Amino acid sequence: MRIFKQVPRILFGNGALERLPELLRPRTSENSYYVFVVDSVHANNAMIGRLPIGPNDIVELFDATAGEPSTKQVDALREKVVQLKKAKLPATVVGIGGGASMDVAKALSVMLTNEGSSTAYQGWDLVKNPAVFKVGVPTLAGSGAEASRTAVLMGVDRKFGINSDYSMFDAILLDSSLLAGVSNDQRFYSGMDCYIHCVESLQGTMINELARAYADRALKLCESVFVGNGNDDELMTASFMGGCSIVNSEVGVCHALSYGLSMELHYRHGFANCVVFDVLEDYYGDAVMQFREMLKRHKIVLPKNVTAKLPDEARERMIAMTLRMERPLTNALGNDWRSHMTRERILELYARM
Ligand code: NAD
Ligand code: ZN
Repeated sequence: MRIFKQVPRILFGNGALERLPELLRPRTSENSYYVFVVDSVHANNAMIGRLPIGPNDIVELFDATAGEPSTKQVDALREKVVQLKKAKLPATVVGIGGGASMDVAKALSVMLTNEGSSTAYQGWDLVKNPAVFKVGVPTLAGSGAEASRTAVLMGVDRKFGINSDYSMFDAILLDSSLLAGVSNDQRFYSGMDCYIHCVESLQGTMINELARAYADRALKLCESVFVGNGNDDELMTASFMGGCSIVNSEVGVCHALSYGLSMELHYRHGFANCVVFDVLEDYYGDAVMQFREMLKRHKIVLPKNVTAKLPDEARERMIAMTLRMERPLTNALGNDWRSHMTRERILELYARM
């Protein structure tokens, strides 16, 4: 049983962005500025002009196309803020974008009040001090980063989350009109991240009734969006509820394998999950069949033989990464997961992708 923290304040609605100032902690003489971490895809669009950016605020444009956010980037950003503001803390850190930009904002808020490198906090409940107040605004739906206690970062030799109650947003603003510019493919990949979160959570051993209720509903919303013609309010809600379900359960085999792909092939998370999920019929049979139908419906063609040209060292790193995903694998396969998920089995699954 885990203590289940949730984001305490949520503003939901198409067009809600105008009310973002209501969610921010006011600037004071001691904490006189805000830090906005904004996905650089918004650098020149109208959305950024609608943000309550003051003359002393810091706007950090995060390029989420270049790869997964890293501990190095977070450490450098913390250093930049400390230098610019002479160690004074911001009143609020705001993360605006997909899961990557929101995770950078979450990690920054933690690192502004905790010493050392962010690599030291990758793991479960390692953060010592409360973080700076933070607000999340997704402009892409699926990751559930707006709801979760995780800030996923690429570290020195592993992709791993900072998992702490302190890395959870204090408020979020869910405005589905912000999804308008997302491409069909990206919408699908990130949406499938949510779909897969729900499947892994529902079919895992760590599920409880509370997490099941969230995952069940989020899965239905994903089906409405990707099998039917559901709208962006539904997708935004699915992402949030999928994230809530993961807070109180765990991911599974797909996530355990997809981190390796992101590490070695620099695949974005949603895309990597899709490549992996397509070969997991032994674990998530019916859901994989439905996933393939959704691929067809949305005209998404996944690449084949993606690991064929990788050197042996890369394969070894991917195996090691997968074997480190103890919680997801325990959730998916039970305490005895090591007897099934051997290095040979992992290699075989990667070879099929
Ligand atoms: P993302 O943040 O990686 O962004 C994917 C692409 O979409 C980027 O190129 C970005 O610029 C673009 N984009 C974002 N908003 C857009 C918009 N409105 N219009 C057009 N393009 C837009 O994608 P994601 O799927 O939201 O998140 C994946 C990331 O989140 C990964 O880094 C993953 O590790 C992390 N993640 C975190 C959690 C968590 O609980 N913290 C859970 C799952 C995934
Ligand atoms: Zn995910």
